[in-house]
Amino acid sequence: MLTIEQLTGRDDTCLVPVGGNHRLQVDTAAALARLQADAREAGFELAIASSYRSFDRQRLIWNAKATGERVVHDDAGTPIEILALPEAQRLHAILRFSALPGTSRHHWGTDLDIYDAAAVPAGYAVQLTPAEVATHGPFDALHCWLDARMAANASHGFFRPYAKDRGGVAPERWHLSFAPLARELDGRVTAEALYECWDCDAEPLVLRRWVEAELPALLGRYVSVGKRWCPVGY
Ligand SMILES: [Zn+2]
Repeated sequence: MLTIEQLTGRDDTCLVPVGGNHRLQVDTAAALARLQADAREAGFELAIASSYRSFDRQRLIWNAKATGERVVHDDAGTPIEILALPEAQRLHAILRFSALPGTSRHHWGTDLDIYDAAAVPAGYAVQLTPAEVATHGPFDALHCWLDARMAANASHGFFRPYAKDRGGVAPERWHLSFAPLARELDGRVTAEALYECWDCDAEPLVLRRWVEAELPALLGRYVSVGKRWCPVGY
């Protein structure tokens, strides 16, 4: 079990490097290496777009989106005029694709975003958009292969927590989670623990008052993914 500091991205001491600037929890890294070897045999180059992310990095992303310094997209990939929305609505637009600092699954070291480096030219800037992973998108073939592996329980413990649109986080076909560890971590970070994180942070959380006004509901809608994203037995 991870500590509250590890769950909220404020302790990175148990992570191992997995290429580039990426880091993951040690068992997740070992399982990923096996999945990558299988993918290579099938003609794919399963590469990491995003892995462990710290609390500070997530707060930077959140605050930049909340203040309009970083673009927020709608489901169709169209930029949203975030500052034109009432403040109470801004957080919902952001939460569709970005987590509140302290609640990202990327804090755990068990989750990562992937793409197929063999399907795009060198230097291609991966966007992680729905179009890239849709039918005819460059990464569809890798994801179809992964779907089949997951269905056969041959994906070395990796499954998709955001496979379906449940009205919270938008579907993210590129996001994989290592079920043997991650399954037990859902719901461990309470509202009280988050208040403490944000109180201790050097930078204020933009939109905090609006977030606090509906935090329990936000945790249910955008953070918890329940137990059904991976097979029983993990
Ligand atoms: Zn992700």
